[in-house]
Amino acid sequence: MDTDVEVFAPATVANVGCGFDVLGFAIHRPGDLVVARPGPENQLTIESIHGESEGIPLEIEKNTAGVAAKALLDHLGERRGISLEITKGIPIGSGTGSSAASAVAAVMAVNEFLGRPLSRLELLPFALEGEAIASGGAKHADNVGPCLLGGMVLCPTNANIEPVQLSYPETLHAAVVLPKLHILTTKARAILPAQIDMKTAITQWGNVGSLVAGLLQNDLTLIGHSLQDVVAEPYRAQLIPGFPDVRLAALDAGALGCGISGAGPAIFAICNGNQTAFEVAISMQKSFAKNDLESYRYISPINPLGAQRTR
Ligand code: ADP
Repeated sequence: MDTDVEVFAPATVANVGCGFDVLGFAIHRPGDLVVARPGPENQLTIESIHGESEGIPLEIEKNTAGVAAKALLDHLGERRGISLEITKGIPIGSGTGSSAASAVAAVMAVNEFLGRPLSRLELLPFALEGEAIASGGAKHADNVGPCLLGGMVLCPTNANIEPVQLSYPETLHAAVVLPKLHILTTKARAILPAQIDMKTAITQWGNVGSLVAGLLQNDLTLIGHSLQDVVAEPYRAQLIPGFPDVRLAALDAGALGCGISGAGPAIFAICNGNQTAFEVAISMQKSFAKNDLESYRYISPINPLGAQRTR
């Protein structure tokens, strides 16, 4: 009998401008695949990693998928041997939630393999434990949350608040452009100041509030105006050559708003409709090309499903 379970976990755009560390959404592609199958008794192993996998460790305790799966197995007191096979579709250090997707796919694959003892939402803390090793120990669910649950997800750090799935205008599309550059989250985090002043904080939380209102009220103009990030982007922009021009190119081509995806270097633009998103992505790529930067583009509506079992 074939007992293999395969799960696809999609790329995510975290931060979404002003929602630094608390807001993210899932897109349809790219994504990571994790297969869970019977393995050596009493052991969790990663048998292989394929795809965009350069430098990703096979050791359980150094791999976000391994740490997440182990945390789940420990919680369940489960001793069955499980072997994981990972296929990376999301480039690492891209700002599109590569490390989070592996963690999410792993916990969901293991949970399915074991007959689904936990609900999707109950898997979140274990995926987060895996993701934390790629973020210098920080536990922010703005990639893991939307990757696991789908949609646009607010993940406040207040322990009493569970992730909130927000409604949004159905025509919203993301143009995500990834230049051929690597920025590790740990480096992009180190560049940020430890403290911000009151005026900056007020601007930021005002923007987050109005962004959420814009999403819930289907107000495209409000969404566009609210995306501005005054906390992280002013520092992180210097890590991406030509960022101000790419943003202008996106806005000129009709984007509602534009910002750095996660820790970068991917840049996302929120657009109304697929055709505009396509034109915006092309304009952003042309702008990167002026800085001799090749880039990939991903165009997607918001992915409402999140991770899915595919086998
Ligand atoms: P991203 O923001 O695209 O997830 P990060 O910089 O956060 O990229 O994470 C990449 C870091 O996490 C690298 O050091 C990588 O080796 C490590 N890592 C460990 N396991 C994985 C995994 N399964 N997938 C991706 N990165 C992983």
